[in-house]
Amino acid sequence: MIMVGTMAITLWVIGWAMKAPYAVRLNMMAMLLVGVMMIHVILPDGHPLRLATGGDARLWAIFFGFGVLVWVYSKFLGGLKARVKRPETAALKTDSFSPTELDRYARHIILREVGGPGQKALRDAKVLVVGAGGLGAPALEYLAAAGVGTIGVIDDDVVENANLHRQVIHLDRNIGIPKVHSAAEAMTAQNPFVTVRPYARRLDAEIAADLFSDYDLILDGSDNFVTRYLVNETAVAADKPLIAAALTQWEGQISVYEPAKGTPCYACVFPKPPDPALVPSCAEAGVIGPLPGVIGSMMAVEAMKLITGAGESLGGRLLIYDALYAQTRTIAVKPEPDCKVCKGKGLTAT
Ligand SMILES: [Zn+2]
Repeated sequence: MIMVGTMAITLWVIGWAMKAPYAVRLNMMAMLLVGVMMIHVILPDGHPLRLATGGDARLWAIFFGFGVLVWVYSKFLGGLKARVKRPETAALKTDSFSPTELDRYARHIILREVGGPGQKALRDAKVLVVGAGGLGAPALEYLAAAGVGTIGVIDDDVVENANLHRQVIHLDRNIGIPKVHSAAEAMTAQNPFVTVRPYARRLDAEIAADLFSDYDLILDGSDNFVTRYLVNETAVAADKPLIAAALTQWEGQISVYEPAKGTPCYACVFPKPPDPALVPSCAEAGVIGPLPGVIGSMMAVEAMKLITGAGESLGGRLLIYDALYAQTRTIAVKPEPDCKVCKGKGLTAT
């Protein structure tokens, strides 16, 4: 008995000295007890080892049973505590806002065009952002800050040093990690009342339809035409409004594509991708740092207008911002009856 007690204390002290986690030390105790019980089961009566370890297995069985009871009880308590802690986030799913949320969104709620119903619509909205780079990053930041309840973000890139002069959602310490995880971390740190769903992969035709079906609204901030056309085709097929934008050097453009509301689709306006030689990437041509912030924030504004029904959207208009000369132009764009994607659906929309 004394020998087993000494062994238990020695093991505990060694575990403590080696900074072994509490659970590991408890496991070592359990293993010691099982070992002692095995000695009593396997060895014959009167064996010196049995005598040295108490002589009777029943005593150790009671110890073991007591330990199991304590463990089960602590697990049960842990479960209860977790359930008690949950209401803070569970409150989000109820109809009313918590006092903290009301305070957080007070400057929204006071706006006549948003109000309480608009803020609730934002909370209930599910928005998918394609790309967590230049355009996606500011859009994601503002959507999360504004309290858009569920935000999906899909991107297969990792944060690079050369992204950081414009993609301010990503931090220096996150270089090398997937952009969607870096963005999700920043968004939930800024607003813990929203749910972020990061998808660290490239959007492809295999998953697009399924993914889009989970969301009410799509924002396209991707940096390549293959993805842009796929996003448009999937959004048209699923009848989801699409906010798409693009950037080059000093210029950005943005529009809302919602054929069901009489606007063109992206392919009506840009039926064919331009010659790649004419559209250099940010890496090849450069881009002025705050430009994605301007256009990406506009994407978030348009998203919030669509969700709350405020104002007049950019549907049917292409907004072009020339940062170098500080000029903004808006061009009317129309549905094309020969469009291969939407077949000019916007022409017959009411
Ligand atoms: Zn079209």
